[in-house]
Amino acid sequence: MKIAIIGGGIGGMSLALSLVAAGLDDVDVYESAPDIRELGVGINVLPHAIRELTELGLLDELSAVGIPTADFSYFSRLGQWIWGEPLGLAAGYRWPQFSIHRGELLAVLYRAVTDRLGAHRIHTGHHLVRAGQDPRSGAWGDCVNRATGAPVDRVEADLLVGCDGIHSIVRRTLFPQEGPPKWNGVTMWRGVTMGKPFLSGRTMINAGSTRQRVVVYPISKVEEEQGKALINWVATLHIAASADMPAQDWTNFARKDEVLAAFAPFVFDFLNVPELIRGAEVIYRYPMVDLDPLPSWNFGRVTLLGDAAHPMHPVGGNGASQAIIDARVFARELALQPSIEAAVAAYDDQRRAATAALVQSNRRAGPHLCQDLVEERAPNGFTDLSGVVTPRELEEIAGDYKRIAGSEIDGLNSRKSLSVRPVTL
Ligand SMILES: Cc1cc2nc3c(=O)[nH]c(=O)nc-3n(C[C@H](O)[C@H](O)[C@H](O)COP(=O)(O)OP(=O)(O)OC[C@H]3O[C@@H](n4cnc5c(N)ncnc54)[C@H](O)[C@@H]3O)c2cc1C
Repeated sequence: MKIAIIGGGIGGMSLALSLVAAGLDDVDVYESAPDIRELGVGINVLPHAIRELTELGLLDELSAVGIPTADFSYFSRLGQWIWGEPLGLAAGYRWPQFSIHRGELLAVLYRAVTDRLGAHRIHTGHHLVRAGQDPRSGAWGDCVNRATGAPVDRVEADLLVGCDGIHSIVRRTLFPQEGPPKWNGVTMWRGVTMGKPFLSGRTMINAGSTRQRVVVYPISKVEEEQGKALINWVATLHIAASADMPAQDWTNFARKDEVLAAFAPFVFDFLNVPELIRGAEVIYRYPMVDLDPLPSWNFGRVTLLGDAAHPMHPVGGNGASQAIIDARVFARELALQPSIEAAVAAYDDQRRAATAALVQSNRRAGPHLCQDLVEERAPNGFTDLSGVVTPRELEEIAGDYKRIAGSEIDGLNSRKSLSVRPVTL
């Protein structure tokens, strides 16, 4: 079975590795960029996805670069503690949660694809512009050099999988009327700053509410070993509905003064946000966008995966994790079902509704809802948290989100492996 993967991001690389592990190795990855570059800032990969990467044999490589995040706390805009819980191994999962630079995660995946499939199977400089299917030959896609527009290749395969991100051309081919990603009015400024370990040293902090928030966590094991912390931060502001949407480009540089004044009050005894912003070498600006869930991913010999299939607001850290799970589920179905069409249908069945629920939950603030409740009910702060939001409400919000994301501890620890071949966990 010849499989063409369009897009060499986290989803595309995870699919390539999952297919090889499932015994399907006639696989090619077509990537628009001229090389696989380590772009972006920090992301979180949650235990449900680290389980899959562990079963793909990548735990040691990830442990060498990522921080196994140990605990999490929500604070209000005024720095008052609202909710907290242990994470990853500390919470009782059999797999860690990693905070990691997106580029380093991609590098781990890329090296593994190169080793297991061969570098010649990764075709950089191949920007897909058209795709389709033909009942006799399967699927096809036309690629050009993105810089010059010159035709490069016609890709032909039994199956073509669009892992080409939120601006997916494959998705646009399947849903030409859909329109561009939708902005919720929130702008994110992101950066990494060298600093000192804070709180437990492996803590993730989220302070504020949907109106104004900062999320902060360390991402580098190498720096941790030197007694330092490479701190990833995301500062978000809900801008007036009339404002223009910032460009959707992960390399869109911003000025620090765009965001410093708004976050001047975010100086707490555990965190000094203005200092973090000032200390970053570069900062990036990006709008918070997503797309409505799709009515189908089941198009016979063409389908979608990762952000191309279910772009979601970065709330609850599930974008990369869900792409990795898609990859594992789809590879398993392709190995076990009697036909490609049956595998695509089974993949659609298992993953589309599940990820649609997350897209919708993230639009309603997902697990961050607890901060919005506090902001709404006690805008000037509180002396007794339980008079503002009950422990039960807080537990329900956190529990509901884990259920939707497929990350309940007992469920994940006890569910059967997605591996087609036996693995040692
Ligand atoms: C450059 C970049 C930086 C990012 N930085 C962050 C970050 O700092 N923090 C964070 O939380 N998330 C970041 N993300 C998003 C995050 O990686 C994804 O949400 C998530 O990992 C899902 O991955 P994906 O592979 O489905 O999509 P993506 O990560 O978007 O990968 C899609 C891949 O497809 C390629 N591609 C796009 N169009 C075409 C085409 N027409 N033909 C061929 N190839 C194509 C892209 O170059 C990219 O490599 C970033 C994404 C990108 C592309």
